[in-house]
Amino acid sequence: MRMQPADMARRAGGALGQAAYRLGFWGERTACDLARAVRWLGSRGAVRGRAAHKRFLHPVAAGFAAAGRDLAAPFARLAHGVGSIRDFVRAEWQEHGAPRALVGGLLYFYRGVRRYGHLAVRAGRYVMPLLALAVFVFTVRHTLSRSFSLAVEVNGELVGYVESENVLEAAKNTLQQNIVSLGQDDQWQITADYTLAVDPDELLDQKTLARTLLEMSHNEIQPGAALYVDGQLVLVSDDAPGLRQALQAMKTTAAENAGQGSAAEFIRDVELQEGIYFTSDISSETAVQQTLSDPDLFGLRTVRRAVEIREIPYETITTHSEDYRWGSKQTVQAGQAGSAQVTVDYVTENGVTTEQIVESVTLTEPVNEEIVIGSRMPAGSLAEVSGYGTLLWPVPNYKYVSRWMSSGHTGADICANAGQDILAAADGRVVTAGWHYSYGNYIILDHGNGMRTLYAHCSKLYVSYGQYVSQEDVIGAVGNTGNSFGNHCHWEIYLGGRRVSARNYFPSM
Ligand SMILES: [Zn+2]
Repeated sequence: MRMQPADMARRAGGALGQAAYRLGFWGERTACDLARAVRWLGSRGAVRGRAAHKRFLHPVAAGFAAAGRDLAAPFARLAHGVGSIRDFVRAEWQEHGAPRALVGGLLYFYRGVRRYGHLAVRAGRYVMPLLALAVFVFTVRHTLSRSFSLAVEVNGELVGYVESENVLEAAKNTLQQNIVSLGQDDQWQITADYTLAVDPDELLDQKTLARTLLEMSHNEIQPGAALYVDGQLVLVSDDAPGLRQALQAMKTTAAENAGQGSAAEFIRDVELQEGIYFTSDISSETAVQQTLSDPDLFGLRTVRRAVEIREIPYETITTHSEDYRWGSKQTVQAGQAGSAQVTVDYVTENGVTTEQIVESVTLTEPVNEEIVIGSRMPAGSLAEVSGYGTLLWPVPNYKYVSRWMSSGHTGADICANAGQDILAAADGRVVTAGWHYSYGNYIILDHGNGMRTLYAHCSKLYVSYGQYVSQEDVIGAVGNTGNSFGNHCHWEIYLGGRRVSARNYFPSM
């Protein structure tokens, strides 16, 4: 990976910035030192007015002048010397010939060097630091133009090159944050060594480095997915996509088996948590296969949606009317079922299918059945018993009495079909509801004020001891129990503790 120009510029800028910072720091410190020196001088009273100029600035200026002179001296001397040698050689040449002129010139030069060499040494004292500075500046400039990085080594193995330690720290953090620790003491650490590297081919970014470290630590940690069912850890797989697919396949198969238009879902809360896991926590391939081959563990629900035309049942509305004879039943409106288009989900769980109505659109409304029950008692069914209230003939529509009360008979035998309703003759409380060897199933009602009524030979009793009843309530059914010959209701009336004949109050029966 070659660095992009923008990247290089950024890094160069960073390096320059750092250099500038260091330079600034150095400058500041030097300034501080100088200021301290000046303050010290001031406190000694050495720097005052003109005296300051003379004693401090003047020597400094003089120093610079001396340095200038020292620097210039060798060159001035050399220029002067060369001029002198040239004049000397030219004069010798004309007088004594070339050989003597050259030898004389060399000697002249040698004497000059011996005499004035110290000037060059003195100049050297200034030149050497300047040269060193030049070398330093060159080195810094050259160095800044190159890229430095860190080679990362883990367990002696080169991982790659990074721009700074921060990259490795960030990569480590990324890994550590993604580690799902299933144990309490599980920890993952990695220690890296750094060496300085110049111009590496490729720099690792944080993501790539994290991936590389993860691969290197394969025997400790590795990417994977944990499977939870209802919050319980079931397994950890190193193949997250494979696990996801297997779960999906489980649902697909169930849906296919449930028939066309079916969908399947898990009943339980099935959750995959992807992350980095300790290799020691990873389940074996066999264990994973075994778990996935048991769909009951996950609970599968299949839903098949269907659209059907269904009947809407009619309701039966019953009313009572005096217009009709007591107990008669009139259907004044026949019921008719309606129809609806119903969208229904057939939901199957553990082999049990239930239906859930999703939508129902009524196509035709049902027509309710209307029934009227007659409540009109036959004429003469109600009798006034002076001082006690009214009494109702207990078996409506049956008026034939085979025997009335007489010296040998304690009540009125009202003949009726078995199962016919026996009504309470008046409001009252049940004081007897049970069996008697002669009366068979019988009931005694106490109506207060000393009036009681008794109903015998019943096939069924609909009330029990202590119960309060109202006049006209059905209390039992006509039967042939006890000492009886044929279905009838043996009815007795008591007033003030004495039996009275019903015939006195119901003469028309
Ligand atoms: Zn009787």
